[in-house]
Amino acid sequence: MRATRIVDLSRPVGPETQVFPGDRQPSLESAATIADAGVNSTELHLTSHTGTHADAPFHFLADGPRLEELPLELFCGPAVVVDVTGRADRSPITRADLAPWENAFGPGVIVLLRTGWSAYYRTERYFDHPYLDGEAARWLVEAGVRTVGVDTLSPDETPYGGHEGSGWDAHLAVLGAGGTIIENLCGLDRIDFPDPVFSGFPIRLASGDGAPVRAVAMHMAD
Ligand SMILES: [Zn+2]
Repeated sequence: MRATRIVDLSRPVGPETQVFPGDRQPSLESAATIADAGVNSTELHLTSHTGTHADAPFHFLADGPRLEELPLELFCGPAVVVDVTGRADRSPITRADLAPWENAFGPGVIVLLRTGWSAYYRTERYFDHPYLDGEAARWLVEAGVRTVGVDTLSPDETPYGGHEGSGWDAHLAVLGAGGTIIENLCGLDRIDFPDPVFSGFPIRLASGDGAPVRAVAMHMAD
């Protein structure tokens, strides 16, 4: 088996990266240059939840597993792209919306929710994304799913622009089950082949609440 095609699902990390409201904007500064030191090197300032990244349970749960306590199997495996495009701003994605894919959900399956909201990246409307309601999130977990990826800032409603948000049910359902959430995916529309394999390993940050990933979808063939 080899990857005959690899689709990049990741956002660049840099000063232009759109971050969660209130988070610091990343900055990349030259730490050394070939002219001065013989090498190029960069100093990074960013939160662990910058760009396309994975959340560990410890992000929300004081006693939850940290990133490096999670099985690596959570970050790589067969993916199901759930098409929930065409939704209104801040609308819930319900269990009924996920039902057509029910037979595909199970242990080891990585569920990628494609809302289409990645089209609004780096605009204010990106904050007004649809969100996974608590019942739908708990249903995925009951089906055995432990990895949920979204093409939005969060699977839960994002407080911004006078909206308080509706809580953190989706985070708590998935992270509370020892799973992970991959946020700020893009390019899900480019997965136009059957049986994609997702890979998005986080860097092994010592802080353990989350870390950027290089998320891809691979088409595997003999
Ligand atoms: Zn996060």
